[in-house]
Amino acid sequence: MTNGTINTDPRLFNGCEVGGYRNRDGWLPACDWPADSQIQFGQDLSGKFSFFEVFMEHPDPRFHRGEGPTVADAEQNAWARLERWRACDHEWVRRDGGAAGSTDTCGRCTKCRGVQTSMYPPMTTCRVCGVATSDHTDRNDAYLCAVHGHWSVLPRELWREHHWRQQMRDLGRRRISDMQGLEEEVWAAQSIFCEPPADIPRELDLVMARYRSRS
Ligand SMILES: [Zn+2]
Ligand SMILES: [Zn+2]
Repeated sequence: MTNGTINTDPRLFNGCEVGGYRNRDGWLPACDWPADSQIQFGQDLSGKFSFFEVFMEHPDPRFHRGEGPTVADAEQNAWARLERWRACDHEWVRRDGGAAGSTDTCGRCTKCRGVQTSMYPPMTTCRVCGVATSDHTDRNDAYLCAVHGHWSVLPRELWREHHWRQQMRDLGRRRISDMQGLEEEVWAAQSIFCEPPADIPRELDLVMARYRSRS
């Protein structure tokens, strides 16, 4: 900044804030990105080119990216593509072509080749109520909606490791005013283990077991 003021553009995040580890020089975007967008940029891991990424709201693309020799070039590339996107009379098709069992909810425009998130329901359904969902999975990899995948509803023997952690977090956040009588609270506290029980398989073990069963 030349005038000595610190610009705290609220759109910059993830180390790209002025003075952040990705933006020590205080570079600022030049184009008219929406006020509620989130922007990050930097060098590709190869160090050979720069990227500029913007997260916006519908109907703009949820995720948008440009590349170029410098961050400024990458931004110009991303902006040109956004203008093309906005001018396009999109024709959406499922990005995955409607593959059975897909959890991909993205659409791809057949005209501008743009990709948009959350356009289609997943092709998987909740094991309990049958709504299209891919929100959660149980220990047997069955899909569950947000309601039936919650730890307080899912039978304990179908829990995965993250259900256990979710339960511990939820209990930790309970407000005093929501608590019951002292006797019930003592009973509840004594019935909570500090460590996940040994029969909760680690996520990595589940992934490995699935991988082995395939080969
Ligand atoms: Zn389009
Ligand atoms: Zn359900």
